[in-house]
Amino acid sequence: MPGQQHATPSAGPAHQDPPPDTGAPGRRYVIRGGAVMSMDPGVGDFESADVLVEGGTITAIGPGLDAAGAAVIDARGRIVMPGFVDTHHHLFETAERAFLANGLLLDDGSGSPSAYPTYVEHILNGFARAYRPQDVYVNVLFAGLSQLDAGVTTVLDVSQIHHSPEHTDAAVQALIDTGRRAAFGYFEGDGRPEARYPEDARRVREQWFPSDEQLVTMVMGGEVHLGRDVYTRSWTLARELGLRIAAHAVGAFGMRPAFDDLARGAGGVEVGPDNLFIHMTGMSDQAWTMLRDAGAQVSIAFPIEMVMRHGTPPIIKMQELGMEPSLSSDVETTMAADPFTLMRTAMAMQRMVVNERVLAGAGDGDPYPAPSGDTPPLLTVRDVLRYATVNGAGHLGLADRTGTLTPGKQADIVLLDATALNVAPLNSVPGAVVTLMDRGNVETVIVGGRIRKWRGRLLGADLPRLRAELEASRDHLFKETGLRQDLFAYS
Ligand SMILES: [Zn+2]
Repeated sequence: MPGQQHATPSAGPAHQDPPPDTGAPGRRYVIRGGAVMSMDPGVGDFESADVLVEGGTITAIGPGLDAAGAAVIDARGRIVMPGFVDTHHHLFETAERAFLANGLLLDDGSGSPSAYPTYVEHILNGFARAYRPQDVYVNVLFAGLSQLDAGVTTVLDVSQIHHSPEHTDAAVQALIDTGRRAAFGYFEGDGRPEARYPEDARRVREQWFPSDEQLVTMVMGGEVHLGRDVYTRSWTLARELGLRIAAHAVGAFGMRPAFDDLARGAGGVEVGPDNLFIHMTGMSDQAWTMLRDAGAQVSIAFPIEMVMRHGTPPIIKMQELGMEPSLSSDVETTMAADPFTLMRTAMAMQRMVVNERVLAGAGDGDPYPAPSGDTPPLLTVRDVLRYATVNGAGHLGLADRTGTLTPGKQADIVLLDATALNVAPLNSVPGAVVTLMDRGNVETVIVGGRIRKWRGRLLGADLPRLRAELEASRDHLFKETGLRQDLFAYS
């Protein structure tokens, strides 16, 4: 009947509630009839299959599963895949979202709109110093819920806001309260005496992270640019405490000599497979070879590196070395933190470079030359999906529990709406996710078996209250830093 609303047949009744107590021990449900992209070569892909979840764990994947007694989630018309993993996000900066839309890492002296405000001057050395523990809490929580809503079920929070142990505790509590998988990256604060970085890591480990089986785990921040005295202490302490170590590596930030020292074995500590380096822009061949040989990992923040002048994302270098990155969003001061932006930007950037290299071989009468033998392969949608799931889990030491849909792993699952106006008709599952989808297609999100977003609605979060608290935090931070609040300035 014209004008009348009909539910999409595949969607099921829109008013249906999620199964109760999902994620609790013994609770079983089956996700029926979705296009399952497991990201696990041993499990494979299915045009239509079921995923059985018991408690927090995936127990079976396949067509027509016998799941008597289990609650049923109708996934017809949906893509069922692992939740996304972001290996580097500064969650505390939510109050400054889009404040640095044109911004660079540092003031380049140009006097251009990109030179003021800048990241180091106005975020790290500005806003960040005015954070109170309650600001840390609401900023981290709001950013986490936003990413959960966008299908990012695991994050490394590169948390650089540890002005005091109270700031640290607020950051950890916010990650826990978000209800998704997270690695808490214990980085430095602004250096006030009560901060106790890096030594307070011992207390944080004992108090908050007695087990590595928790939903939120711990990673040590071990910034090389803080100087040898500090990073050798943080790395040594991390290894004593059984923590992985994450650190930025940005040539434009003056870090190249320190990494060359590490490569020469003259850095005071050894790089190992427990190291995750962020960006790796502008680094020497020697440093790269050392990283590869040590089995260290690299997180690339494609959009941020390109727009904020960190340097060219080093994807070609990694391909040449046989390495693969994970993906990271970095900062919402300057770019969205959803996985679709990250995957599309990675693919577009790499292909621009490779395509231009191929076209540079064009000659008279040969405007579309074949690639030469040493041309790196173009990234595919499968590649960037792997970066955004499997690789992220591996780089955070969580490959045994997330990153793929595999029986025995935790049920970190997203259901993406392939019937949507911007997606139908479905012709390619990996293609649709990477080329067409956005966060609006993330319909249902499950973390450790627990449904956190259900048919478009985030569960268990009082968003109006949190938004009001975040706005109050934002107002405090602007006031303390003396920056004018103006919705049309800084642009
Ligand atoms: Zn960063």
